[in-house]
Amino acid sequence: MRLMPFFLLVFILCFFSNCATKEKADLLVYNATIYTVDSSFTTAEAMVINDGKILAVGKTSDLQNQFDAKEEIDAQQKFIYPGFIDAHAHFFNYGITLREAKLEGTNSWQEILDTLKQFAGQVKEGWLIGRGWDQNDWPVKEFPNKEKLDELFHDRPVFLKRIDGHAAVVNQKALDMSGVKAGDKLTGGDVVVKDGKLTGLLIDNAVDLVEDKIPVPSDSEAAEAIHDGESNCFAVGLTTVDDCGLSSQQVELINTLQKTGHLKMRVYAMLSDKKENYDFAFAKGKIKTDRLNVSSFKVYADGALGSRGACLLQPYTDKAGWYGFLLSPKEHFDSVAKVIYDHDWQMCTHAIGDSGNRMILKTYAKYLHGKNDRRWRVEHAQVVNPGDFQLFGQFNIIPSVQPTHATSDMYWAEDRLGKERVKGAYAYLQLLKENGWIPLGTDFPVEDISPFKTFYAAVVRKDAKGFPPEGFQIENALTRQQALQGMTIWAARANFEEKEKGSLEKGKFADFVILDNDLMKVADQDLLKTVVLYTFVGGEKVYEKK
Ligand SMILES: [Zn+2]
Repeated sequence: MRLMPFFLLVFILCFFSNCATKEKADLLVYNATIYTVDSSFTTAEAMVINDGKILAVGKTSDLQNQFDAKEEIDAQQKFIYPGFIDAHAHFFNYGITLREAKLEGTNSWQEILDTLKQFAGQVKEGWLIGRGWDQNDWPVKEFPNKEKLDELFHDRPVFLKRIDGHAAVVNQKALDMSGVKAGDKLTGGDVVVKDGKLTGLLIDNAVDLVEDKIPVPSDSEAAEAIHDGESNCFAVGLTTVDDCGLSSQQVELINTLQKTGHLKMRVYAMLSDKKENYDFAFAKGKIKTDRLNVSSFKVYADGALGSRGACLLQPYTDKAGWYGFLLSPKEHFDSVAKVIYDHDWQMCTHAIGDSGNRMILKTYAKYLHGKNDRRWRVEHAQVVNPGDFQLFGQFNIIPSVQPTHATSDMYWAEDRLGKERVKGAYAYLQLLKENGWIPLGTDFPVEDISPFKTFYAAVVRKDAKGFPPEGFQIENALTRQQALQGMTIWAARANFEEKEKGSLEKGKFADFVILDNDLMKVADQDLLKTVVLYTFVGGEKVYEKK
């Protein structure tokens, strides 16, 4: 009984001051449908953020009573998701390509020449660089050659990369400056000649012979370019990108830009498979800050299907006796796998063809032995032999796939592979089942940066016009929940970051987007119309729709 007055006093004090029970916070977002993407896939109405991290998730009334936030956002019953993670992209390079001639979506070689003439009028000197052509989109589906380029630009080097980055057409000036001659031979690439003469067409490793001669942008040019790329990425709701294959200098530039506040995007940076990068990595060790994670290597097993560089077990259906090729001798993959394993880094290997996939799965298996948590990844895992799917599960190898590749390639994939073999291609659901989870990405700038295109392609498997009506190999469609997990929590897991991001839960980074659409419920045909209203990284608003 003697304690009674004390409790009463506390109650009265709190009641009138309204402070003692309310916890301070930076931001309260309320009146929303929040898809938390936690392990039970629960939804909530409100979220409290402090110091860049999530403090609480729950009901609007509860959180309003419990917290005193400096700023409040009424989400007006819109939809909130974890910030999207693109598990496979070329972020640094994407920024650079924004300054080059855009050739995506061009419908003929003539259209490309016209675009280039215009571009040459704007960029008056130096290399003419373009990217994004795809001969599969033209009336005559044949590779281009340098003839017209030589006529139009005989004294300026021209370098035009195919959409997939695995082929390029260049002019004579560029070939001369790079010392490329007819008859040059190399591993994992082809300097294409016709009647003993250079055609200007370069496949896979041959592309590097010329590309390596293009002057690299200065740090300040690169910084500006990355910044432009970042703005586009925030506008589509991306808050983390996996940048697949960077040099140590590029990684250091990103780190500096992030530390000085010039770059807010979180980056999972894979170092490319070059000796100097291994030296850098193992001397310096893994890099882990709030925004940068460097603990993996990107290796290339083979080329791409579109340019017939993907390495197949049986010849291409549309090119007799041609198997494609590996980009390095088998021993190379074995030796880098050993080094990466011994240093406990993550290996991520591009593999498109069923032979490329089998070779890399077997190489991984040799070091991983059995079940493990190394999360070694196969990037693309595009064409897999029916007998090889189980290797992903048996050795916990993570397929990292890009659903828009399925809907971009579906028009000609069967030409390359034939009726039977194509069934093991773009088999995302079958791959998901191996480990019970799968990260999704775009491979931008090979595809568009939009995560909504990924989502749509993964669940609907049609193009924007609704073709084909039944969906391409629809048995491999993902559910909406799986697609969302693939772009958030599973992508985080593929980066060993599932404890810090990928879902909206207490203690995690406040990386989130507010959308005008409910991705879980809106009609298929409206998915691509989704609009990002806000993007937040670490509780900071980095994009707002104007
Ligand atoms: Zn890629």
